[in-house]
Amino acid sequence: MKKKESIKRAKKFVKPFRITDGKDFRLKHIDPTDTLNLKSEDKPRAKETLQDGIELLAELQDKLYAQDRWSVLLIFQAMDAAGKDGAIKHVMSGINPQGCQVFSFKAPTSEDLDHDYMWRCMKRLPERGRIGIFNRSYYEETLVVRVHEEILAKQKLPEKLVTKNIWDERFQDIRNFEKYLSRNGTVVRKFFLHVSKEEQKKRFLERIDNPEKNWKFSSADAKERGHWDEYMKAYEDMIRNTATKHSPWYVVPADNKWFTRLVVAAAVIDALASLELEYPEVGEEKLIELAEAKKLLQ
Ligand code: ATP
Ligand code: MG
Repeated sequence: MKKKESIKRAKKFVKPFRITDGKDFRLKHIDPTDTLNLKSEDKPRAKETLQDGIELLAELQDKLYAQDRWSVLLIFQAMDAAGKDGAIKHVMSGINPQGCQVFSFKAPTSEDLDHDYMWRCMKRLPERGRIGIFNRSYYEETLVVRVHEEILAKQKLPEKLVTKNIWDERFQDIRNFEKYLSRNGTVVRKFFLHVSKEEQKKRFLERIDNPEKNWKFSSADAKERGHWDEYMKAYEDMIRNTATKHSPWYVVPADNKWFTRLVVAAAVIDALASLELEYPEVGEEKLIELAEAKKLLQ
């Protein structure tokens, strides 16, 4: 398929999952089992499409790197076992490792807690020409911290600043921060891998039953399931408050891993293609230099 056509198709494919204005968004609008009109017998074809997508992505990323102007920040958020790691691994598999930086954000260290919550993430923002991936991010500050308010109590914030408005204030700060990034040439795209509670249970049981997956299981994750409804509320509120045109959320159905990966790849292609990247053209002086070098070599 022609490149232009693939880009057009990717754009159309991700549209149902892209949220650019959260006002009317409800999590129930997106079904975790959705695969659009693709059935499981289409899986082999979907895998081929993904492979083509990955090649196109590699080409776009090469231009991004050569041009050295824009940077791309991809943020992944999800409940445990939703497939963040797998999606990142597959979609980025064709990319030059030099042009890509992945960071995982776990519970903050004591050094992190001596700063504002954005500090540790700011240090990890992608350089120009690079794709940066955040596996979890500052959004945890409106998710796990909201569900477990005892975490907030340990953040060493001056008491007077912790009011009932804190979540709205965080949303506002995040919106402003992402606007700032976009005004400086960092393209922000956010992914919520939307897995169902049923499918999460299945994947946890598989981690317990399959010796090769045992290492992935943590009983803390299973315990966290007890807060499922609170998390869903927090995710919905987060998306409603932070989905914007310049920095959209993609709510990706995550019960079928092959479909999740297709959507993520298409969204990244769409984001890169929107930048109209080109290899830098060299000037007259450089052309003379090239001609002289060629003569010398011959
Ligand atoms: P894995 O798939 O390997 O389990 P993971 O992203 O779940 O990947 P964990 O080692 O389980 O990695 O650690 C992530 C944990 O850190 C999550 O429970 C997450 O909620 C927590 N965390 C991340 N950011 C913060 C934060 N700002 N405050 C408190 N906890 C946080
Ligand atoms: Mg975990």
